[in-house]
Amino acid sequence: MSDWLTEKLHDDYAQSLRIGEMLYDSKTEHQRLKVFQNGTFGRVLTLDDVVQTTEGDNFIYHEMLTHVPILAHGAAKRVLIIGGGDGGMARAVLDHSSVEHVTMVEIDAGVVAFSKEYLPQLSRGAFDDPRLNLVIADGADFMRATDGGFDVIIVDSTDPIGPGEVLFTDHFYGHAKKALTPGGILVTQNGVPFLQGDELTGTMRAFQSLFSDATCYLATIPTYAGGPMAFGWGTDSDARHVSVEVLQERFAASGIKTDYYTPEVHKGAFALPPYVERLIP
Ligand code: SAM
Repeated sequence: MSDWLTEKLHDDYAQSLRIGEMLYDSKTEHQRLKVFQNGTFGRVLTLDDVVQTTEGDNFIYHEMLTHVPILAHGAAKRVLIIGGGDGGMARAVLDHSSVEHVTMVEIDAGVVAFSKEYLPQLSRGAFDDPRLNLVIADGADFMRATDGGFDVIIVDSTDPIGPGEVLFTDHFYGHAKKALTPGGILVTQNGVPFLQGDELTGTMRAFQSLFSDATCYLATIPTYAGGPMAFGWGTDSDARHVSVEVLQERFAASGIKTDYYTPEVHKGAFALPPYVERLIP
């Protein structure tokens, strides 16, 4: 049916979203970009027919990829985002008044331009924040060349197909480790382990050779279908073991308002069911 967008990311499993109204459909230099209206999720952004973000459920993904590492770190001033073209990740990072500088490296200027126009409630002014330095470049190239000095690095990438593939390589993770300050934290979007277990295993194997603490944590985001999504966690600090009381103090001091993140959710997200544990070598 022509009024449905069917995402066929997996061999045996697909999800479909009704297209209420197609607002934009065009090819950028790197990928096919669509923005359409859906009755349940609001505006939906797809790249090459894979859902990237929606107005309705993006808060879960953005809150968990930002507040978990930033509040666990406790003193993050310089943050690097790889990907993140819709601006939602930059918004959530900049909501931390303790953050002094954010570098965001997005390969596709088209995603930024269209997100500003069609999904402004995701970035909510983040692109105009003087603390943000937006770089249009391949994240892997940037990582190879950067002088580093980042307290937290967030990889907000597409799946490991097309331009996002280079962001799942051992080389990339090795350069990311070098770009972290001592005690810095690297977090990555690692797909839905029930359906993309190999993706998580590959990242975890690389993290284990780089970091003293390498694991993942989970959150369920409805449009990343098939079960909870895994976020890779790599650090040489013991930030994962910060107490819930300390997180409560930091969260209260941050003044951030959330719809998914709480210090208790933060701690619980690292509790992994056996089927996910088994994917970590
Ligand atoms: N959360 C989504 C998901 O899980 O499917 C992905 C979010 S979307 C903001 C990811 C962004 O990564 C896109 O804007 C895409 O253009 C960007 N991207 C893909 N490959 C990249 C690369 N090699 N360097 C920098 N950005 C890249």
